[in-house]
Order: sequence, then C-alpha cells, then structure tokens
Amino acid sequence: MRHPHFIPAPDLDPDDRPVPQLDHDPVTGLRWSEPTVPEPAFIMLASFIFDACAQATDSCRVEPDGICEHGHPSWLRRLGVI
Ligand SMILES: [Zn+2]
Repeated sequence: MRHPHFIPAPDLDPDDRPVPQLDHDPVTGLRWSEPTVPEPAFIMLASFIFDACAQATDSCRVEPDGICEHGHPSWLRRLGVI
C-alpha cells in the first residue's frame, strides 16, 4: 500500500533501486563518515523530502540536504538524491 502522502518525483523512481551510495561530498570532495545505521527504506527517503526533515547516516535529524554535527550527511545526500 502506498504512503497516503507519497508524491512521486521524477528523480525518485523506486524502480531505479538500488541506488549507489556516495562516500564523499561531490561538492567539496571531502569523505563522509561511514553510516552507523541501516539505509532507510525508499518510502522513508520520500518522507524525508515531504517533511523537509531527514535522518543522517548516524540517525541524527538534519535538513534533507544537511550534514549533522558529527560529519554524517543526510541519507538523501549519501544516496545522491539531493
Ligand atoms: Zn550525528
């Protein structure tokens, strides 16, 4: 069953899975810390965008395009969605 608030976006096609993970910031070239929590399900990633609040790869709450104080990017950045 689909999430009631799910809004498909052109860049977020579930059929494109698996999404390769980035191990560094493509802008600065700096390496990110390795994730300490499992990759969220696609539906969670979609809700991150919808809620404008995301989970970092160490489970901190960050902006969808943010990096937490420990150097972990949001999963959306890690997966190259943003
Ligand atoms: Zn953190």
